[in-house]
Amino acid sequence: MKKTLIIPFKTIDKEIINHLGKKITEILGYKVVVNKEQISIPSSRKIGLQLFAEDLFPTLRGELMKTDADAVLGIIDKDLYAENFNFIFGLAYSDCSLISLHRLISEDKELFYTRAVKEAIHELGHLAGLGHCPNISCVMHFSNGLGDTDIKNETFCTKCDKRFRSRGR
Ligand SMILES: [Zn+2]
Ligand SMILES: [Zn+2]
Repeated sequence: MKKTLIIPFKTIDKEIINHLGKKITEILGYKVVVNKEQISIPSSRKIGLQLFAEDLFPTLRGELMKTDADAVLGIIDKDLYAENFNFIFGLAYSDCSLISLHRLISEDKELFYTRAVKEAIHELGHLAGLGHCPNISCVMHFSNGLGDTDIKNETFCTKCDKRFRSRGR
């Protein structure tokens, strides 16, 4: 069973971290460990208040290397952007992934949490080798905006699930 390290960047609510951990285990079957401390956000390229996501990856990888986990999921409340994208909900490559809660927030806590779960499972799906899925209700469907996120499920479609089970674990 794979082990995922969750790294919260200052200052993420413990309750949502625990919820994400529980869901990652439930949906992907991964063990989850949470970094003991919330780590500070390294300096990065910026546009206004948005951070260039890739610049946070060396920090994530550095933390991952200190542990025996197989992959890392960073969680940040700042808005992120990337090459060719005005904003991103998350990013993943190699053994590191990162999601931003910034655009997922809602007064409806259940909605906020389920959005975060979808983005986390989506990025970890990428780390397991899955690409984007044309099925709009599959968690691996690409989200252009919150509308797409809200339509999709927290879980893989049958095809992606099969792919995940054959190569993901
Ligand atoms: Zn994606
Ligand atoms: Zn799918």
